Amino acid sequence: MFVPFSWQRVLWRVALVYSPLFVLGMFTGYTLEMCLLAAVIHIVWMYTQQHKLLDWLYNQRKLSPPHGSGSWEPVFHGIYNMLKRRLGRERELAQLMKYFRLGAEALPDAIVVINQDGAILWCNQLAQGMLGLKWPADAGQHLTNLVRTPKFVNYLRKARFDQPLEIISPVQSNVWLEFRAMPYSQQQLLLVIRDVSQLRKLEKMRKRFVSNVSHELRTPLTVMRGYLEMLDQDEVDPMIWGKARNTMLDQSSRMENLVNQLLTLAKIESASVEDNRETINFSSMVGNLEAEVTGLAKGKQLSFSFDIAPDIEIKGDREQLRSACGNLVSNAIKYCGQPGEIHVSLSLIPQGALFLVKDSGPGIERKHLQRLTERFYRVDKARSRDTGGAGLGLSIVKHALQHHDSQLKIKSSVSKGSTFSFIIPRKLFIQQ
Ligand code: ADP
Repeated sequence: MFVPFSWQRVLWRVALVYSPLFVLGMFTGYTLEMCLLAAVIHIVWMYTQQHKLLDWLYNQRKLSPPHGSGSWEPVFHGIYNMLKRRLGRERELAQLMKYFRLGAEALPDAIVVINQDGAILWCNQLAQGMLGLKWPADAGQHLTNLVRTPKFVNYLRKARFDQPLEIISPVQSNVWLEFRAMPYSQQQLLLVIRDVSQLRKLEKMRKRFVSNVSHELRTPLTVMRGYLEMLDQDEVDPMIWGKARNTMLDQSSRMENLVNQLLTLAKIESASVEDNRETINFSSMVGNLEAEVTGLAKGKQLSFSFDIAPDIEIKGDREQLRSACGNLVSNAIKYCGQPGEIHVSLSLIPQGALFLVKDSGPGIERKHLQRLTERFYRVDKARSRDTGGAGLGLSIVKHALQHHDSQLKIKSSVSKGSTFSFIIPRKLFIQQ
């Protein structure tokens, strides 16, 4: 068994070195000289061992110690054990750091760790993309030198981290970033950065939606209120009263129409795609539109042609598809000038079933085409209002088609007419 240190052994070894020369000195009469010689030999041996130790510690890169003899053996062995333990701990620490970094890389947010002076200690891959940092080149750089937005610089300076900060990304002007800072370990700050552009967009949409709905409801309500106030007067001319009554009826049906469209939109948006899929005879559904159209176009100089391929059966949401097709046909009737022609067709093409509504109306300028499916978007607000439209019809069409893996296509040229179409893909056919 290895004994690290024992006085007994030390004394035994010293005796082993000194006693032969001491005895020789006694016999030869040079006791003192022989003792001195033994001491010199002992010192030289000690320095040799010390040299071995220093050479191992400073010049050699290997962990295993040189062979130490005598009382130096436990010294070498002790240092070796200490180094081994430290190396083991370092390895554990490195492994822990690796796990921490892998974990931080796997997070959906960007992470930057800075010290109390704002110097970057570490950042993950996402932070490099979001903030334009370079790792490890930017290690030790002051974060405020790289993200110079004054609001951000102030945020770090004031160190009031109870509220997050939102700023535009320093590398992409259309991206909004939210910074959350958390004091982390000793005098370090953990910054968690998240792309909130989508949230901001949704919030903006929500506000615009509420303001649009209020605006659309306010106009008819103001008109009705005006007429109702008129009724307070003692005598109302029956002619004026007749007109007021008609206008109020008109405005109330406009409001009803708006509320119905909003409900339809909300229903379509919240329905899950697979929810109400049933077998639909798409050909019959489009065929039924032909009968409905006659009522809608009553008194208008419009000529219709329907060309419907028979027996197209698909899986889909009946109400949503009827709403999509109905909106496209009723738009054609609403916006097609008179006299005008409207052609509705359902045909089989290699990709699926193509539904198409073509009119000979005034057409739509190119700049509007992209935005037509936005809620409340109307090309000509005054004209659209005359027809009772609130700009929700095509938005309903878009969402209904999305639930059927389809997309609305609009082709239009000014004074030549418009074509609205979509394809129901073959994967939704009952028999492919
Ligand atoms: P609205 O309820 O106002 O009709 P839509 O969302 O259905 O709203 O349509 C949006 C706008 O697109 C309409 O206001 C109209 O200006 C334009 N539009 C839709 N269909 C046609 C068409 N067939 N011809 C010309 N313009 C159209």
